[in-house]
Amino acid sequence: LRNKNVAAADLISGILSGNITALSRAITLVESTNPEHLAKANEVINGCLPHANQSIRIGITGVPGVGKSTFIEAFGKHLTGIGKKVAVLAVDPSSTISHGSILGDKTRMEELVKDQNAFIRPSPSGETLGGVARKTRETITLCEAFGFDTIVIETVGVGQSETAVHSMVDFFLLLKISGAGDELQGIKRGIMEMADAIVINKADGDNIKKARLAKTEFNRALHLFPAKKSGWTPKVSTCSAITKDGIDEVWEMISEFLELTKSNHYFGEKRREQNQYWMLETIDERLKNHFYNDKNTIALLEQNKKAVQNNEISPFAAAQILLENYFKFNH
Ligand code: GDP
Repeated sequence: LRNKNVAAADLISGILSGNITALSRAITLVESTNPEHLAKANEVINGCLPHANQSIRIGITGVPGVGKSTFIEAFGKHLTGIGKKVAVLAVDPSSTISHGSILGDKTRMEELVKDQNAFIRPSPSGETLGGVARKTRETITLCEAFGFDTIVIETVGVGQSETAVHSMVDFFLLLKISGAGDELQGIKRGIMEMADAIVINKADGDNIKKARLAKTEFNRALHLFPAKKSGWTPKVSTCSAITKDGIDEVWEMISEFLELTKSNHYFGEKRREQNQYWMLETIDERLKNHFYNDKNTIALLEQNKKAVQNNEISPFAAAQILLENYFKFNH
C-alpha cells in the first residue's frame, strides 16, 4: 500500500483485513473531487458493501459549545471500554469556507484518538452540504466493512446539516444544556421531531438541579409530538461529559432502542428507505454539478442572471432557455 496509486481490489482487501492505511486511502478517494477517482471510489464501495451494515449509526447534534466533542470522547471511551469499535465522522459544510473542519478535530478528542479501537475522521470538504453529506454516507460503508460496529456522526446544530445526518443514522441524539428556564426557546420544531433522545449535558456541580428541571420540561414537550413510526418514545436524560455521570445510561437507552426496532423490523425498513433516499440525493447532486460545470451553460447562465436581475426576462423563461440549451448539448 506504499504506492498511492493502489488498485481498488487492494484497497478492498486491505479494508477487509483491518489495514487502517487502506481505510484512510479509500476515504480520501471517496472525498476526492477529481472525476477520474469516481469510478475507483465506486468500485471500492461496491466491494465493501456486502461486508457493511453490521452496526449502529448514531447522529449527534447540538449548538457549538454544548459539549459535543467532550461528550463523544466520553461516550466513545465508554463504548470501547465495553468492547465496541467506534468510528467518529463529521458533517460540517462550513469546513469548505473555513478551510479545515472544526468538527472531528483530533486535538478535541485526545483520549479517543489514542484508542486502538477508535477512528476519528474530520468532515470532508465540499462545495455543498449535499456533497459533504454524500461523502460521509459513503465513508460509513467503508468504516463498517473495516469492522467498526458503532458509527458516531457529529454535526453542528445550525443550518440543514441535521436533516442530512438524520437520513444516514439509526438513532438521532440532540445534545442540550440547561438554560435560564425557557428550555424550548430557540429549538427548531423539526429537530425536536427528529430526535430519538435529548441528552442534557453539563449536569454537574451547580447545574444538576437546573438540568433536572430541563429534563422535565423537555419530557413534557416531547409528549406533544405525534407517535413515531419506529414505535419508540423519545427519551430525555442528563449527563456530564466531564464527570462521566449518565454516559453509560445513554448507551443503555440506545440498546433499548435497538432491541425494540429490530424486533418490530423498523430498523431494517428505515435503512432500506435511507438507501433509496441516498440514491436519489446522489442523482440530484451529480445532475446539478454537471449542469453548473457544463461549459455551454456557464456563460449563458451569467448572461441570464443579469437579465433576470434587470427584469428583462422572467426567471421561468430564463430557466427554460438554460435547460433547453443544456439538454441540446447533453443527450
Ligand atoms: P462543542 O462545541 O459542542 O464540541 O463543545 P465542546 O466539547 O468543545 O465543549 C465546550 C466547552 O464546554 C468546553 O470548555 C468543555 O470543557 C465544556 N464542557 C463540555 N462538557 C461538559 C460537561 O459535561 N460539564 C461541564 N461543566 N463542562 C463541559
